[in-house]
Amino acid sequence: DPALMQAAEAIGSHVATPDLGAYWMPFTANRQFKQAPRLLARASGMHYWDVQGREVLDGVAGLWCVNAGHNRPRITAAIQKQAADMDFAPPFQMGHPKAFELASRIVQIAPAGMGKVFFANSGSEAVDTALKMALAYHRVRGEGTRTRLLGRDRGYHGVNFGGISVGGMVGNRKHFGLAVAGVDHLRHTHDPARNAYSNGQPAHGAEFADDLEKLVAMHDASNIAAVIVEPIAGSTGVLVPPMGYLQKLRELCTKHGILLIFDEVITGFGRTGAPFAAQTFGVTPDLITCAKGLTNGAVPMGAVIAKDEIYETFMQGPEHMIEFLHGYTYSGHPLACAAGLGTLDTYAEEGLLTRAGPQGDGIAAYFAQGVHSLKGEPHVIDVRNHGLVGGIELQGIAGEPTKRAFSVFLDCWAQGVLIRTTGDTIALSPPLIIERGHVDRIVETIRTALRRAA
Ligand code: PLP
Repeated sequence: DPALMQAAEAIGSHVATPDLGAYWMPFTANRQFKQAPRLLARASGMHYWDVQGREVLDGVAGLWCVNAGHNRPRITAAIQKQAADMDFAPPFQMGHPKAFELASRIVQIAPAGMGKVFFANSGSEAVDTALKMALAYHRVRGEGTRTRLLGRDRGYHGVNFGGISVGGMVGNRKHFGLAVAGVDHLRHTHDPARNAYSNGQPAHGAEFADDLEKLVAMHDASNIAAVIVEPIAGSTGVLVPPMGYLQKLRELCTKHGILLIFDEVITGFGRTGAPFAAQTFGVTPDLITCAKGLTNGAVPMGAVIAKDEIYETFMQGPEHMIEFLHGYTYSGHPLACAAGLGTLDTYAEEGLLTRAGPQGDGIAAYFAQGVHSLKGEPHVIDVRNHGLVGGIELQGIAGEPTKRAFSVFLDCWAQGVLIRTTGDTIALSPPLIIERGHVDRIVETIRTALRRAA
């Protein structure tokens, strides 16, 4: 849209670069960034514009958030109206209609039998909420010995203490000493020797789920509360679950009375071609954590979706007593709920929750073809994908992990395309409104960057 671009350039060119000293940036090399800052000023649809007014194609939906594309009018209008009508409502012992409405709308698209929603403000909070829910659930049932929490190597579950404990990213834990005790990890499912360049779910590796049997043998099921996994691990390089793996995990959890938690913070809201990856892969967990795409990234919000049976288990004891002693000041914040409702409307109107799947218009297949066309380019050692998620793994520079991929990131940024790298893997997660021309531009930009990467 040339008019929009012109407007963006006019505004962008007037955004002064602020003093950068005071802000301690998250998950960023602060000193390096401040020498050459990358500052965004505006966004619309598939694009950002930086403070110089330069257009940047968004290959990562901001940060796996903006599934409907940027600055969608319905969402903006919903937030503006809510801000004018009512800024805040206390969530404890009080309510407001939109929180109930949003919970109902989420349940309508959630897997059958998952009929209850607890609101938090981020993925990390959703994860810690789900872990606490699992522990409390077993206590309420009189199985208070079930306290062990199981995660998986190369898992990412946010940065709160519960999340880093069950998480499997050493870097996120090593500075902080011990976190939550009584945690074990299953092996991750990445098996490049058998599954290199897999398109969709890898064929081999369902047996990795048997690690759960080993942990049950070691600790006894009566001491294990829950297992948490991401259906697709995103932050550690796009690891797609092998065929049959999640099914097997489900069977073992059911057999042993262990709750299964799917962390769908990145897979939720259409990323894999269904509202949730649970539906894509045909496996219903006991709890789902989500965030990001829930509000299209416009207002922070996270949620835990629970099976009805879990909620009903809590609903015992005297009616005037609080059943689950947990909550946040901003649980179900009115602005977040308004954004969530506007977001779900937008997804529904445009068919975005299924667009990345077989019922879509073929965009996911086109995207898959695009990312796999990078096989054979310099430094590429594997390509993985599912729905509108793509991972391109590069050979790291010996002794300098992450450096090669980051140099590709910088090159793409200079060429006007935003990608994301994690370790030495490029992780793509474009808005679900992406068209073929955008796929071509993202893929060719990466190709150019790879060919000139050191
Ligand atoms: N869980 C998963 C699977 C994630 O990918 C993320 C963030 O990327 C989180 C949890 C944490 O979410 P947040 O950054 O909103 O706390």
